[in-house]
Amino acid sequence: MKERGIKTNPGSSMIDVNGVIHEFKTGDGSHPQVKEIYLMLKKIIEKLKMEGYSPNSSQRRKLTAPKYHSEKLAIAFGFINTDPGATIRVIKNLRVCEDCHSATKLISKVFKRDIIVRDRVRYHHFRNACTAAVGNEPAIGFGLASLSTD
Ligand SMILES: [Zn+2]
Repeated sequence: MKERGIKTNPGSSMIDVNGVIHEFKTGDGSHPQVKEIYLMLKKIIEKLKMEGYSPNSSQRRKLTAPKYHSEKLAIAFGFINTDPGATIRVIKNLRVCEDCHSATKLISKVFKRDIIVRDRVRYHHFRNACTAAVGNEPAIGFGLASLSTD
C-alpha cells in the first residue's frame, strides 16, 4: 500500500527512552511534559541559530510549521530525559524533511550527541555534523514519499 504523504497524514516520531516508547505528532500538545519539551526545543533552536542555522519559517505561526515537526519534538524530549551524551534514537513515519535534516545534523555537533533517525526510507546517523545513511534499504515503493512536506 502506498501512502502519498499528503497533509492529512501527519508526521509522527517515536523515541525510546529507558525502554518506554513515546510518540509525538507534528505540533503535538498531548504529552504530559509538553511545556518542557517546547521550552527545550526553543533553546535548541536558539543555539542552532547562533551556529548559522536558519530555520524554515514557513507557516511559522502554525503548529504544522517545520519547527514543530515531530522529530524535533522527539529529540527535545530525548534531551530532557536522557543523560548528556547519550545517543538519541528516533523512528519517523515519513521522510525526514530538509529542515529537520539540517537541524539534526547541527544538533549532533553543537550538543555532542549521536542521533539516529530511522525514517521510511533509511537510517540517518548524525554525528558531529556528519551524516551517514546506514543500513540503506531499497527505496522501491517509496517514490511518492518525496512529496511529503514533513
Ligand atoms: Zn521536518
